[in-house]
This record gives sequence, structure tokens and C-alpha cells, in this order.
Amino acid sequence: MNRTSPMMEQYKNIKAQHPDKLLMFQVGDFYEFFYEDARTAAREMDIALTSRDTGSENPIPLAGVPIHAADTYLNKLLGKGFKVVICEQVESSSQAKGLVRREITRILTPGTIIDPEMLEESRNNYLVTLIKNESSYGLAAVDVSTGDFQITEQSGEDAWEIIIDEVNRLQPSEILCSSPELELLSNYLSKSNGGCLTSSLQSIPTGPVARELITAQWGEAIWDDLSLDHYPRAVSAAAAVITYLELLQQIPSGKSHFHHLDLYFINKNMIIDMITSRNLELTQSLREGGKRGSLLGLLDNCLTGMGRRLFRRWIEQPLVNLVLINKRLDSVEELLTKPIQRRALRKKLEEIFDLERFCSKLSFERVNARDLVSLKNTLKEIELLREKICELESELLRDTAVGIPSFDDLICTLEKALVEDPPLAIKEGGLFKPGYNSEVDRLKQISSETNKLLLEFESSERQRTGIKSLRVGYNRNFGYFIEITRSNLNLVPENYHRKQTLVNAERFSTEELLEMEEEITGARDKLAGLEYELFEDLRREVGNYTDQLLKASFEIAKIDSLQGLAESAERFNFSRPLFSENNVMHIVKSRHPVVEQLSAERFVPNDIIIDNKNYILIITGPNMAGKSTYIRSTALIAIMAQMGSFVPAERAELPLFDRLFARVGASDDLSRGHSTFMVEMQETAAILKEATANSLIILDEIGRGTSTYDGMSIARSVIEYLSRKIKAKTLFSTHYHELTNLENELEGIKNYTIAVKEKGKDVIFLRQVIPGKADKSYGINVARLAGVPMEVLIRAETILNELELASSKASEHQLSLLPMVSEPVLDHLKELEAAEIIRELDLNRMTPLEALQKMYELQKQLMEEDNESEQEGAG
Ligand code: ADP
Ligand code: MG
Repeated sequence: MNRTSPMMEQYKNIKAQHPDKLLMFQVGDFYEFFYEDARTAAREMDIALTSRDTGSENPIPLAGVPIHAADTYLNKLLGKGFKVVICEQVESSSQAKGLVRREITRILTPGTIIDPEMLEESRNNYLVTLIKNESSYGLAAVDVSTGDFQITEQSGEDAWEIIIDEVNRLQPSEILCSSPELELLSNYLSKSNGGCLTSSLQSIPTGPVARELITAQWGEAIWDDLSLDHYPRAVSAAAAVITYLELLQQIPSGKSHFHHLDLYFINKNMIIDMITSRNLELTQSLREGGKRGSLLGLLDNCLTGMGRRLFRRWIEQPLVNLVLINKRLDSVEELLTKPIQRRALRKKLEEIFDLERFCSKLSFERVNARDLVSLKNTLKEIELLREKICELESELLRDTAVGIPSFDDLICTLEKALVEDPPLAIKEGGLFKPGYNSEVDRLKQISSETNKLLLEFESSERQRTGIKSLRVGYNRNFGYFIEITRSNLNLVPENYHRKQTLVNAERFSTEELLEMEEEITGARDKLAGLEYELFEDLRREVGNYTDQLLKASFEIAKIDSLQGLAESAERFNFSRPLFSENNVMHIVKSRHPVVEQLSAERFVPNDIIIDNKNYILIITGPNMAGKSTYIRSTALIAIMAQMGSFVPAERAELPLFDRLFARVGASDDLSRGHSTFMVEMQETAAILKEATANSLIILDEIGRGTSTYDGMSIARSVIEYLSRKIKAKTLFSTHYHELTNLENELEGIKNYTIAVKEKGKDVIFLRQVIPGKADKSYGINVARLAGVPMEVLIRAETILNELELASSKASEHQLSLLPMVSEPVLDHLKELEAAEIIRELDLNRMTPLEALQKMYELQKQLMEEDNESEQEGAG
């Protein structure tokens, strides 16, 4: 006999309420674990496993820890992802009459620990709740130990990736989530988060229930304050976690422990405002307003409609999430290095029609049989496409392949149903294959049989009448007829009645022919009607696949965009960007991808270095030198890198930018026409308000739309603000040479100029960006290049000389307004030129003697030019 003691009876009752948790049961100075819990506790905490009632037949497994040391053990269990229930004696054994009363005093789970002793100080201890609603997600992250309560939601194409990323960022110690997601989730949690406990949510509060739970915590006003009506998933996640905490007795009644509900948004894209997009010519060119000449026009190598639409979004909304960016880059790299596979993919994509547009046509019932045959062919191509992708390795491509549903059933249905080349009209029959529908087959049979009967009728009438040329025919207006030529009219039998008279013949009909006609047209009409009905059924059936078709369409769009990027990378010789962890932008031999292709001139690549020490580059140089091109290429490279594209540079290391701004001084902006200085200032103001240290700012001749002094003052104060307050990476091109003085006055500023060479009165643009400042503006030289008459040029030069003289005499204070001549710049130029010549040499094809000769020439050239400039300087 094995009778349970009253205490064990009590134990079992309490344990039954929490079968999924370890129960720590106070017995005097110890917490005891019994049964299975004892085994687990002994194993996990490395303590002795003994038993109760050792003498009895069925001893109860037992393990215990002393109460004074319980926290250490508790920590161990929670750290390993267990939930623990603590049950304590609530009266002393002396008070007790009989069995001591025990109650649950705490329920602890890894995500709901309050005791600071048990927590790492430097990081939050999050309990994350994740709920899914269709393809959107709601997330609540709660730190019970701090009262931190945040919610967010995410929908759209990359929602799952973004949410997973966010979960990994939060590093929760416990996750609550509905069961289908639970399994998926475990595959995605990063290794460092492996020990995290996950439990499944039984029910997800929605609607008024959820609202009630929220307003009970934070009051009615919170609802409108945060516009929670618009975020039902975030609300559900919050409500679910509140329910859970209530169940664990973790929410004290009365005033909420969670002082503040924080609704936040996971930033998933680099923000590019409209003005920036227009200035950088991302999707349309400033001049023509079309796609040609824009970045999109250059890079879009998509082959499907849905691909092209997605690709535009990729350009307009680059990513900010490194994991997602690298996934795209991995795929692009793989496709780039496997040209054969890429070509095969492109071949398939070419055959795939616009599924997305098809689906909307389908929902308006504007799809005909030919469209369905095209659909079938497209679906077959998609199957092949998927096979091709399965040969590839990169994760994103594989994921997309897996994401494309199988359409075997639909293909099979369409294959069986429709003839290969159906007519455009859907109400006149001729759509279905034999064997698809027995009634259709029967009606077809009837009409072909009656056709045979007609032929028989014709020959029997020929015999009966003896008219060899007698013929049975059909015409749309008169139906079936017997045609007799004029010369035979005398042989026409009595039962023929006339239908129609022609020049050389008469047409007749008979009772028998009329009967046959009725049968034939009857069958034909019936057939057409039936086929139309069947077609509508078929169309409806295809309609049931709309979700899958759209899913496939989306995945194909991704594949298409990725291969397009790989194609561009190959065509334009792009390289894979790297992302810097120390916030450095270092680009070696960058090019402007569009100018490089469209300009007749050979493109001169340039380096870009922006780091934490020099984060504002001031670029001076004469008109037409290439300032705008240089600073824009920097912005384009940042965008391309973050959209997952390879970039036009030999090597590019970049930080992740959160926003990108590009502003162009009013008179440089062709599309705006007349000067609107006000607009220019408004746009600049917006940057100063919105930019962060992680933004990239391109300012092209800002302050140009007003008088020199105004403009320069504004430009200067903008730079000062950027240097002191914002510290965003900034490229500032200007023709106000005076601004270069800021290099010595402010933090973070470095001057660059674009090399030009004077040859007599001509100016040659070297297109090379070098440290330093422009020595003068070469305005008159440029005017000369542009063909301004000599007389005007000479007069301009005189005026300039006078002005310069005047201003130098005028005051010493205004020295900064004088153009500077910089010797080192000139020296540097010469060297650059020599270096360029050396770079171009094909040493493999030169004899040592030729090389020596070349070297001699170069040296001579360098020395000659030295002399020249010395003479000039002297004169
Ligand atoms: P700026 O802004 O200094 O007036 P732009 O950037 O508008 O000059 O450049 C003027 C023209 O010079 C461009 O249209 C382009 O054709 C050419 N150009 C600019 N940079 C380069 C370069 N690095 N290599 C070759 N040509 C260039
Ligand atoms: Mg310019």
C-alpha cells in the first residue's frame, strides 16, 4: 500500500496548476523539488538527487536547495530557460493546526524577472510577444524589471525579415508567439539568443478586448494620443503580453507598473525625399523628365513588368538593414559570377508575362482564353525558373524559389481544358480540347455529323436532279442553300423554293435542308453557350489561385531585380561595396554611373574619403570642372550600395546612412526656372532640422540664388551648423572660394578642389579631385571656351583686374574675399599628369629601352613645366 501523505497531496494540487513549470516547494528551510522536477533540477543545477520515504516501495525522487542560497539556483534555472513557481509556507508550523498552509508567492520566467540581483545591469531583459495577422506582424517588447513597454508593427514585403531582425536586436530572454510562427522563429534566432525561452500564445486579444486591456493600464487617453486605431497588430501584441503577465501575477493591481507605452517604428528604409530624388535624377532625368538619363534608366535590366516595378521601389527606398543588404549583395555576386546560370534565368524571365497585371485583369473578368493559355505557358516557365534557381546557393534566391508556390494543378487543369491557340472571342466556342467535357464533345460530334449529312444530301440531290454543278453552301445572311447555275435552272425540282438570285445562279432551299440547318445552328449555338459557361467556370477556378499567383509574381520580381543588378554590375564594371563598422566612407576610383555612360569624354575616376575627422568636404573649382558630378556620384554610390547593388568604384567602403539629402542652389537647378531663393532656403532648413549624424548631405552651390554676400553668409552659417551640431557627412560644392578658410576654423572640414590646367589663355579640365582649394575661378577662361567674343573677354579681364586691385586696397579685413593661388596645387597637378601617363603605359609591350626612353621624356616634361611655372611666377 502506498498512501500519499497530506503534504504530497497539497504538492500535487499546486503542481497541477503549473505543469509546465518547475515547482520549488518550501519545506522548512529548504525548497524541495519532487518527482520529474527533482530529476530535472538535479541534472540542471548539479545537485544531489535523493528520495523521500526511502524505505517504501515507490520512493519519491527529491532534490532540495537551502532557502538562503536559493537565488543562485533560481538564476541558473531561469538562465537555462525554465519557468519556476515558488510555493512558500504562509504560516509557521507552530501556528498551523495540522498541515502548514502553503501558497504560490512568485512565478518566475526568464522574461519576467524583477529582482535586480538576478539581472545583468547593462542590458534590458525583454519579454517579446510576436503576433501575426495575415502578412503583418505586431511586436511588444516588455522589460518588467524597468517598466519599459514598447510596441511596433510591420507589414509589407520584408516584414518577416525585419521583425526577426528586430527580435534579434532586442535579444529577449523570453518570446511569446502563436504556434505556427514559433517553429519558424527558432530557425531564425541568432546563436547568442539560443537559450531564449519560447512559449506559444493560446489566444490573441483583438478589438474591444484588446483596447480594454490597454486602456486599463494607461488610461483612455492613450488610445487617441498614439492613434492606436491605426496599429491593431501592435495593440494585439501589447494586449497578449498583458494577459500573460496577469496570469503570472506580474501585474500589480491598481496603478500600472508600466508607466509609459512606447509606440515605435522600425526604420527599414533609407529616407530619400522627393527633392533629393529629383536632384540626383534617381528615376527621371532633370533635362528630359523621362527614365532615360536617370539612375533607374541605367540600372533597370529587368525583364518582367513586376520586376521593373519592384526595382523602381528598390531605388527609391534603399535598405538600412545590413543583413538584408548583404543578402541582396550575396545574390547579385553569385549571379554575377555565374553568367551561364544568369543567362538561363534571363531566358526564362523573358517568357514570363506580367502576372500582377494579369491578376487584376482576372478580377475584372477581362481575361480571355488566350490569356489563360499564356498563363499556362508562363506557369510552366516559372516551374523551370524555380528549378534553375534551386541550382544556386545564395540564401535570398533560394528563399524566393521556395516562396514560389507550385502550380502543377493549375497547369494541369489549363492543359486539359484549352486548345493551344483559342480564338480571341470567348462567346463563339472553339475554346476547349476534346475530352474536357462530354457535352461539348457530343455537340461537336453532332455538328460534324450534320456536316457529313450535308455532303450526303448534296450528292444525293445531284443524282436526283442530274445537275453535276449543284452545290450546297452557307452564307451568314441566308444560311444554307442549294446553288444551281443559270443554265441548269430548267432541271430544278418542284420542292425547291427560291432564296436568292445571283448573276449566274439561283439559290434554293428545301424542307429537308432547313431541318438540317436548324439542327446545325442549334448545336452550334448550344456549343458556344456551353463553352462560354465552362470558360467562366474555368476563369473562376483560376481566380481562386490569385493569392498564389501574386505571391509568385512578387518572388519573381525579386529574382528579376537581382539578376538585373548582376547584369548591370557586369555591363558597367561595378564592384561589391563593403560596409564600414567605424563610420568611414572610403571610395577608391569612384565614377558617376550615368555621366560615365553618357558623356563623350573619358571618365576620370576619383577617390572619396569622409571619416569622423573630416566629415565635411568643401569642394571648389571653376564652372564645368566636375564638382556636381563628383558629389552626386558619392550620393549615388551610397544609394546603390544600400539597395544591394554593386557600385561604380574600384573599391567602396561605406557606413549605413539613415537619410540622404541632396540640395542644389537655385540658379543651378534647370527644372525650377526662375530663381526661387525662398524655396532653396526652405529646403535647406528642412535638412538642418531632419539630418542626423548618420545622414549623407549633398549641397551643390547652396546660397547661389541671392547676392554674393547674402549667399556666402548663408552658406557659411549652414556649414558651421553642420560642423557643430549635426556632424552629418556632407559634401559641399561652392564657387565661394572664401569658404575654404573654414578648414582652419571649424572642426571636421577639409577642402578639395578639382584640378584644372591653364594653357595660355585656355583652361583644361583634368577632372581630378585633389586636396586643397581652387586658386581662382577661371570664369573668363570658361567664357572663352564657350565662344564668347574676344572683345567681351578682354573687357572682362580688365574689369576683373580693376576689381581685384580695388578689393585688395580696400581693406585688409576682407582679405578672405581675395582668390588664393596655391603653389602646392600646381605641383600636384603636374605629378598627377605624369602619374596618369605612367598608369596608361602598357609595360608588357615595351622593351626596356623604350621604357627608359619614356622615363627620360617624362622627367624632361616635369622639369620643363617646372621652369615654365617659375618663369610665370617671376613675370
Ligand atoms: P561643375 O558642377 O563643376 O560645374 P559638372 O559636374 O556639372 O561641373 O561637370 C561638367 C561636365 O564635365 C559634366 O557634364 C561631364 O560631362 C564632365 N565631367 C564631370 N566630371 C567628370 C569626370 N570625372 N570625368 C569626365 N568627365 C567629367
Ligand atoms: Mg555644378
